[in-house]
Amino acid sequence: MSSVGIVSLGCSKNLADSEVMAGLLLKAGHTLAPTPDRADVILVNTCAFIEPARAEAAENILAACAHKAAGHCRAVVVAGCMPQRYREQMLEAFPEVDALLGVDELDRLPEVLKALSKRRRGALPVTVAPGLPTRTFDKPIPALRLTGPVFAYMKIAEGCNHACAFCAIPLFRGRLRSRPVDALLGEARALIETGCREINLVAQDVTAYGKDRRDGSSLAGLLRELDALEGDFWLRWLYGFHNHVTDELLEVMAGARHVVPYFDLPIQHCATDILRAMRRADTIKAIESFPARLRAAVPGATLRTTCMVGFPGETEDHFKALLDYVQAVRFDRLGAFVFSPEEGTAAADLPGLPPPEVAQRRHRELMETQARIARELDRARVGSRGRALVVDYRGEDGAVARLPHQAPEVDGLTRIAHVPDAVKPGDFVEVRVTGRRGYDLTAALA
Ligand code: SF4
Repeated sequence: MSSVGIVSLGCSKNLADSEVMAGLLLKAGHTLAPTPDRADVILVNTCAFIEPARAEAAENILAACAHKAAGHCRAVVVAGCMPQRYREQMLEAFPEVDALLGVDELDRLPEVLKALSKRRRGALPVTVAPGLPTRTFDKPIPALRLTGPVFAYMKIAEGCNHACAFCAIPLFRGRLRSRPVDALLGEARALIETGCREINLVAQDVTAYGKDRRDGSSLAGLLRELDALEGDFWLRWLYGFHNHVTDELLEVMAGARHVVPYFDLPIQHCATDILRAMRRADTIKAIESFPARLRAAVPGATLRTTCMVGFPGETEDHFKALLDYVQAVRFDRLGAFVFSPEEGTAAADLPGLPPPEVAQRRHRELMETQARIARELDRARVGSRGRALVVDYRGEDGAVARLPHQAPEVDGLTRIAHVPDAVKPGDFVEVRVTGRRGYDLTAALA
């Protein structure tokens, strides 16, 4: 049996895959090393979405191979989007790697480790099956989470049926496939029973949940069932399409006990020509109306979005329209990317790419505009009260928590001063916001 060190890169969906693999390893009698440098086998679960992610994956793979070459571990296994997308190139680029696993082969990990223990030195690495992935995986140990005790990500669907012109994900993650409601209810129950206080539903597009199933499943229906579970916990969903937010979903959210009023809806842009060129024409009609509609339907709604600048054909007028839109809507949180051409995507060879310095300037201007809006919105929260989830306790430095409008790992935190020792991570506490510090809020117990 081996001790395996997991390096999980990329998005929360990839982390969910790492949790599936971790559960499989434990079920097969292996152990999880506290850190990769103390493992017999290093498993690097990679992301291949854009160039910076690929560079990070390469860096971690090479570091693991160097660790092996120095005799500190026995094998290096690489999983996830890199082997799935670049099967052939991986063998050449990383000859020291012992095994490659695609996103459809998570459950082959135990047998791969068995094969590796018998494998002759220099034999060809165990590799990935060809073709687009078609499977979904339930966690063998539903409660297992690599995010710590307080919150978890629950992947409700795999793949994507959209064809956004800039995005390669459908090319290596495959078509949309939603996990069955019963499996998700089972996973949520196990998480809640083991003290998880926040379950974040994730997928490439959570609002598409169930569209591939013929059993009437939908995000609204799933939330209704999860919300009926007993316990004290939050439910949040991340990455949706605003034009897929149904009235039924809004009704469920407005009347729910556990669902936080949080909408994470990447719009990418607002200019009609650009949205059409991005092959997101179906989002044009609702782009003006959705913020007011959501805010009216769900009290205290938090709106988060993501934008892309520098897309081929984007003019100063298009960019000005985006700036005006962002200033009018005043999103609570906004992230932005500069377009980068991705091999195999419809936008890779589109003409009219703005010069890099122009794209960078637009990115800077957009983020500065949003930073000002975020400051004003946070200033307006001073004096307000809310129920916060403690995520860390730091003795004299007080506690670190999140309010419902603060999603894990992407939004700011709420720092609570002077907290009694009895308070611990996973507790919900009533707080009064006293101020702000950068993207964080400061608070006192109410
Ligand atoms: S919704 Fe669009 S951006 Fe997101 S994974 Fe699907 S194709 Fe890519």
